Amino acid sequence: MKKSVEWKITAQDGEARSGILRTRRSVIETPVFMPVGTQATVKGIRYEWLETELDARIILANTYHLWLRPGVDVIRQLGGLHKFSTWNRSLLTDSGGFQVFSLTDMRKITEEGVEFRSHVDGTKMFLSPEVSMEIQAALGAEIVMAFDECPPGDAGIEQTQKSLEMTARWARRSKNRFNELQNEGADTGFLEAQSLSGQQALFGIIQGAGHLNLRRESLEKTTEIGFDGYAIGGLSVGEEKSVMYEVLEFLAPQMPPDAPCYLMGVGTPEDLVEAVYRGVDMFDCVLPTRNGRTGSAFTSSGKLNIRNAKFATDSEPLDIECFCSVCRRYSKAYLRHLYLSKEMLASILISHHNLAFFLDTMKKVRDAIKLGKFGEFRREFLSRMSNN
Ligand SMILES: [Zn+2]
Repeated sequence: MKKSVEWKITAQDGEARSGILRTRRSVIETPVFMPVGTQATVKGIRYEWLETELDARIILANTYHLWLRPGVDVIRQLGGLHKFSTWNRSLLTDSGGFQVFSLTDMRKITEEGVEFRSHVDGTKMFLSPEVSMEIQAALGAEIVMAFDECPPGDAGIEQTQKSLEMTARWARRSKNRFNELQNEGADTGFLEAQSLSGQQALFGIIQGAGHLNLRRESLEKTTEIGFDGYAIGGLSVGEEKSVMYEVLEFLAPQMPPDAPCYLMGVGTPEDLVEAVYRGVDMFDCVLPTRNGRTGSAFTSSGKLNIRNAKFATDSEPLDIECFCSVCRRYSKAYLRHLYLSKEMLASILISHHNLAFFLDTMKKVRDAIKLGKFGEFRREFLSRMSNN
C-alpha cells in the first residue's frame, strides 16, 4: 500500500539524525523548522520570499483561526487552503485543540469534545476529534494532527493520567474519522503522486507532561493506534527547560524508528539544537516572526534588540555572518530608525532575517550531522548563543 508521506534517515550522529521527508507536494530535508502561518500567512513575509530566498518547504497553518475566519465553507468553496492561499508547497495543520484549551474561561471539556466561545464574535462553537478532522480535510494540508488534550505544564500525575487517556481515545476517534474522510474524498489537497498515496498524513500526539512513566504510557497507546508520524506535545508550556530535555532524552529513542518525530511549538535556536541532539526531526514556532515584530533579532552571537541606543549609528548588518537579503543590504542603524518610527517595514525586515536565521541554522545542523560533527557544532553554537 502506498504511503501518504515517506521518511528516510540518511545520516545519523549520536541520537541526531538527518533525513528526507517526502510529501505529495514537496521534498523536505530534516531536521526541519516549519515557519508558522497562523492565518495562512507567515506574518509579514510574502510567499515569494518563502519560496525563493528562504526556501521553506513546509509551513504550518492554524486550524482554529482558519475555522473561525474566513471559515471552512469559504475555504472549501475556493478549493482548499493551497488554492485559496496559493502556497503550493507542503502545509501542516494543527488540530485546533491547543488554541481552544488556552481559552480557559470560555470553554468546557467533556468526553465528546470541547464547547467554547469564539474569540472573534463570542459564538458558541464545538470542537471534537471528528470536527477537527473534518476541518483539516477541508483545509487540505499534507500533514494533519490528531485532536489531543494538552494539560497545563504543571499538571499533577492524576490530572495528566486522565488527560492522556482521553487523548488516546480522541486519537482513535481522530484516526477513524480521518480514514472515512480520505475515503469520501473530502481532502481538498489530494494530489496524484507517483509513489505516494496522494492522501493526507495523520500524526499522533504524545502527552504526559513531565512525568516519564506517563509519557511512556502515552507513547504506547499512540503507537498502538498507528500514525504516519509522531509528535511530542505539551512541552514548552511553562515547565522548566530541564524537564523538556529530560522528556526528550527519555522519549525520542523509544519513538518508532521509521516515522519522523515532531516537537510541537518549540522553540529558541538553542532549543532546536538541543532537541535535534536528542533525536527530534521537526519543529514549529512563532518566535522568528513574533520577535521580529517587537524588534528582537536572533543572530549567530545571540539575541539583540534593535531599540537599543547603541545601534543608533551602527552601520553593520543585524548579523555579520548572515547572507539573507536584509543583512546584505540594511544596517542596524537604519532598521532601528524604521522600528522607532513605527514603520511596518521594520517588522517585515527583522522577521525575514529571523526566519533566515532559523532556516539556516537547521541547514547547518543537517550538514553537521552528515559530516558526523554535530557534537562539535552543538558545543560551539550554544557557547556563541550564550554570549549576549
Ligand atoms: Zn540576515
